Formats: sequence, C-alpha cells, structure tokens
Amino acid sequence: MSSEVAGYRAQADSIREAFERKFERFARFLNKRINGENVVDVTEFNLSLEEAQAELRALSDLETWYVGRKSQLSALKKLIGKVSPEERSGFGQYLLLTQIAGTDKIAEVESNLQSYIWKKRSERERVDVTLPGRRPRRGHLHPITQLRQRIEDIFVSMGYAVEDGPEVETDFYNFTALNIPELHPARSPQDTFYTTGGLSLRSQTSTVQVHAMQRRRPPLRVIAPGRVFRRDTPDATHNPMFFQVEGLLVERGVQMGHLKGTLSEFVRRLFGAGTRTRFRPSYFPFTEPSMEADYSCFKCNGAGCRLCKGSGWIELGGSGMVHPNVLRAIGINPDEFSGFAFGLGIDRMCGLMYELDDIRLLFENDVRFLEQF
Ligand SMILES: [Zn+2]
Repeated sequence: MSSEVAGYRAQADSIREAFERKFERFARFLNKRINGENVVDVTEFNLSLEEAQAELRALSDLETWYVGRKSQLSALKKLIGKVSPEERSGFGQYLLLTQIAGTDKIAEVESNLQSYIWKKRSERERVDVTLPGRRPRRGHLHPITQLRQRIEDIFVSMGYAVEDGPEVETDFYNFTALNIPELHPARSPQDTFYTTGGLSLRSQTSTVQVHAMQRRRPPLRVIAPGRVFRRDTPDATHNPMFFQVEGLLVERGVQMGHLKGTLSEFVRRLFGAGTRTRFRPSYFPFTEPSMEADYSCFKCNGAGCRLCKGSGWIELGGSGMVHPNVLRAIGINPDEFSGFAFGLGIDRMCGLMYELDDIRLLFENDVRFLEQF
C-alpha cells in the first residue's frame, strides 16, 4: 500500500473514532441482542416527547457531520479518483465500510426514536372521556330574523302562505303594476337604486303582491318578508337597506273590517292580548282607501313614555284595500275580487322592541352587540 493511501485510511479511521465518541449518547437507543435476537423496548427510553424530538434532531446533526456533503468523509471520497488504479477499489471499499458502520447505527436509532415519538404522541392525543367537554360557543339567529320568524308564525297560523320574491325588479313590478306610473310623485320618496339595464332594487315588498297574484290567482293569502332598498342617507332611524313584511289577502267580499281585524289580531299576538289599535286615513297609490295603523305602546300600555314619544301609540305601518287598478293590471276583475294589503317595517319594530338608539347597529355585524339577543 502506498504511503499516500495509508495516510488517507488513517484519516478515515480517526473520523470514525470521532464519530463513535459523538455517537455514545445515542447508544442506549440501539437494539439489544438477547439470545441472538435483536430486540428493543422503547418504553425504557424514559424521555418526554420534547426530549425525544430533541434527540432525533441531534441525531440528524450527527448524520450530517458524518456523511453530509461537506463532511470530512465526503472530502476523502473525492480523493478516490486520484489514487493509483491498483489501489482505487480497495480504498473505495474501505471508505464505504467506514461510512456504513456509522449510517447503520444512525438508521437503527432513528427508527427506534421515531416509534417512541409516535407512541408518546398517541398517548398525549388520546381522548380522556372522563374530562368535562369544552362547549363550543354557539351563535344564534339575528334579532331581525328572530322577529321575522315570529311574524311569519302568527300569519301562517291565520292561514297565510309565506312568499318570496326577487330583490331586483323591473319597473313594471316595482312601480307601474302598483299604480305608480312614470312621473307619478310617489316615485320620488320610494326612489331606489337602478342598474343601467332598466332594472332596479325593489323599494318595497309590495312587488311580491303582483308576483303572488300572477302565480296563485285569487283567492289567496300571502305574506312576503324581505329586504328592500331606498336611496336614503343612513342615520339613526334610516338605512338604505331594510326589511319589510308585506301582507296580501284577495278573496270575494273582503272589506275594510277584515283588514282592521287582521292587524288588530296580529299586534295582540305579538305584543299581548291587551294591545289596542287605531287607524288613520292615509294615501298610497296601490291601495284605496289607505290607512296607517298604530298600536298601543307595549312599554307604557298607552300612558306615554320615551319609547312612544309620549303619545302612547306606535306606528305599525301602511295598509289599505288593494286598488282596483292593481287588480286590473294583473287581469283580476275588481268587481269579483277585493283584497287588502299591508306593509310592516321589521327593523323599526325590532329597534323599538329592544330600544335601540340607532337602527344601524342591526347591520354592523358587531358580535358584541348581537350577542345581547
Ligand atoms: Zn310608551
């Protein structure tokens, strides 16, 4: 053997000795040979999960030090090509054996530490069924939705069906069919948002009246809760988007007394049997005659308080007998059928019931506010 190769081999030997010294701390994780059999009992390792993971990282560092790309052993391997052809394969073999002597041990320890870590982890993650459960935080329905459902329940029990209608409407459904022709002054307080294609967001749920009559034909009883839009500047009592419930009944021989009775029964069921109603003449293009309905304040029972601004009465909404022109627009004979319609503002009612200072709170999605209901 040339003195050159002998020198290289001596270097390899000292690298391996250094490895053995560094490896000593991992020796206890090696398999044991008992009666000629390789056995390992990882439970004897006696480490915490974190300690075992640290050992595994240290082992990986040692592997890099021993056989990594920048290791001394790798530097020696690069010299294989430089020794004489007669000595080349012997030297190469020697380095390979040196390497395997270390990597075999590393692989064994790594595998044993891994199984120990898996075992520890599954112990930690095992469910202790005796522990009290952590109750997930449950949400609840929005106050407007809660009120809407109560209103729906009341009317459904009076024989009404719940209708849904589109929020984007043509001019016909939003205005013309409701007896509000173009240039009619009633269009301006109900001004809404328009698209360039001649469509608009509905400014009232009355649009569903038209759809319902077209689809169902009288006799019919429907309520239509839903979102409506107006070109309003938001303030404490206004919002460009709000919720209404529209009610419509068309049958033979319906008159004003039926409407008064229906609204009175509704507020009694919602606010209590002692609730009184009063009706004031009003004007809406799609009803004739029209009236505003008020109910006695649920807080002071009519005596006068801050909520009802001292009057003892709270506004319920607009209503009236369906205008013959509206019936005609959908091809219903007003001499045969008559009906009444009413509209209630859900948000305003909600704001009063919970005594909100600002109706916009209902739409800000602030959990601190919503949690209170
Ligand atoms: Zn009051």
